[in-house]
Amino acid sequence: MRAEIIAVGSELLGPDRSDTNSLWITDQLQLLGIELAAKAVVGDDPERLSAAFRQALTHAELVLATGGLGPTEDDVTREALARALERQLRFEPALWDEIVTRFQQWGRTASENNRRQAYVIEGAESLPNPHGTARGQWLSWNSRHIVLLPGPPRELKPMMLEHVVPRLRQLSGGKQRVRQVLRVFGLGESALDEQLAPIYRRHPEVLVTVLFSPLDLELHLSADDDRLLEPMVREVLEQLGPTCYATGSTSLARVVVEGLLQSHRTLSLAESLTCGLTGSLLSEVAGASGCLKGGWMTYTDDMKRDCLGVPEGLLQQHGAVSEAVARAMAEGARQRAGSNFALALTGFAGPGGGTDEHPVGTCFVALASA
Ligand code: ATP
Ligand code: MG
Repeated sequence: MRAEIIAVGSELLGPDRSDTNSLWITDQLQLLGIELAAKAVVGDDPERLSAAFRQALTHAELVLATGGLGPTEDDVTREALARALERQLRFEPALWDEIVTRFQQWGRTASENNRRQAYVIEGAESLPNPHGTARGQWLSWNSRHIVLLPGPPRELKPMMLEHVVPRLRQLSGGKQRVRQVLRVFGLGESALDEQLAPIYRRHPEVLVTVLFSPLDLELHLSADDDRLLEPMVREVLEQLGPTCYATGSTSLARVVVEGLLQSHRTLSLAESLTCGLTGSLLSEVAGASGCLKGGWMTYTDDMKRDCLGVPEGLLQQHGAVSEAVARAMAEGARQRAGSNFALALTGFAGPGGGTDEHPVGTCFVALASA
């Protein structure tokens, strides 16, 4: 089955809002083994949206639209699809009663324009929305399936999981793909590819996607079943060794915090380069207070000297961005905090700074332990 996603909303065409719904839906489709052939972002314009539906239906057996199901004039998805299919919109008194009751429960009164949300396209099935008044719709047309979903992610996700995924699973033969996520730190895109290309070639039935973030790299491997997936995962783990620091949904910060908690060790930080960012990332993990003692933001030489006891001579001789100073920062932090470990960071983040010996981008990271 081939799918197209249409994200509806003029705000999604501007620079301030991005269409994250379609990324999330794509993930769900991948797990179902449904190929995404195209996606579109269309403003709140009934003509253009109608044209987008017609276009999508020329090639996709499944069309999923998100957004534009609200009560206001600019919510035009229902009308646009009805027009594209040349079907009527029908007012459903039972849905209107439900909306009125919902507003009463919130201590408010439904307004006249909320009636728009009680209209269902002829032949469509209305999908409940426990988190809002915008119901979804599911309809079949010329052996194609069209799904209308609300725009707010907290309304869209439960509706998709409860009412759409089970139907799609049935349509696609009940098959659910299996997936494993490997988290990799310290390798670039091309280095990773070079190491893994021979393994990819041996397992053509496993789909590989690599996602990059400024911090690390996620390798998504998916296949029709575990029998196909597991041998490849084993080979990849063997090849990557410790650069693959975790599997599944976690983060580098979480792995560090959990490792410290399990081994009953504590950490302190001496941050120049990152000025608190490392501590901030670690502190976001629940339980971090059990292992993260604290730290110093020592941006200037004076602060490195006065707060961490980095010898003036060392700063003079090597400069603040140097192995010697990173070591002294870590050692100073560990002694002062009384922690098992201390991590120090110093470097030239740019755009200014840097020397011939240590150009912009040079970083030193030191870890002190007893
Ligand atoms: P509502 O009843 O809230 O009006 P709706 O179905 O009409 O529901 P929209 O008005 O299109 O939804 O969008 C409401 C909000 O949902 C937007 O302000 C935006 O924050 C979020 N949203 C909409 N579409 C997307 C999208 N494609 N990706 C991420 N967020 C979205
Ligand atoms: Mg809206």
